[in-house]
Amino acid sequence: MNNLDCIFCKIVRGEIPATKIYEDDDVMAFLDISQVTPGHALVVPKRHYPNYVATPKSIMHKVMDVAQRVAQADITMLGAKGVNILTNVNREAGQVVMHFHVHVIPRYVADEGFQITMLKNRRLSELNLPMLATEIKKGL
Ligand code: AMP
Ligand code: ZN
Repeated sequence: MNNLDCIFCKIVRGEIPATKIYEDDDVMAFLDISQVTPGHALVVPKRHYPNYVATPKSIMHKVMDVAQRVAQADITMLGAKGVNILTNVNREAGQVVMHFHVHVIPRYVADEGFQITMLKNRRLSELNLPMLATEIKKGL
């Protein structure tokens, strides 16, 4: 069911910390530890499947449903003007963590973006992940 050595299975089991934004019986979403843009999130099935193409359709649909909701929250709560939703399949495509995950990456217009106070003048490494998570959760 779960993979003992998998970093995302460890997050699902609560063995390593993550800034969670969503959880139900089958799906969990949390902020990526390395933010590409403020609010960059990962949506994963709680059960271990190696990637998108190896995931049963019913679970894949549940993950994509949550990814859509996170994207909507990015727009309504964080002021994102666009969102990239992507998943890498296998190392050749850039997959590093071999547990299916969907990246939800909010995109901001450079000159209008980060109008929200908590995002202003913040380096990506200085972002307050719990505060970002709180904002996204309000829109889910
Ligand atoms: P991928 O290249 O699609 O496999 O992306 C894996 C993603 O997982 C990267 O964006 C990492 O920053 C992210 N990541 C790795 N470890 C953690 C962690 N402990 N918590 C949150 N995100 C993580
Ligand atoms: Zn796993």
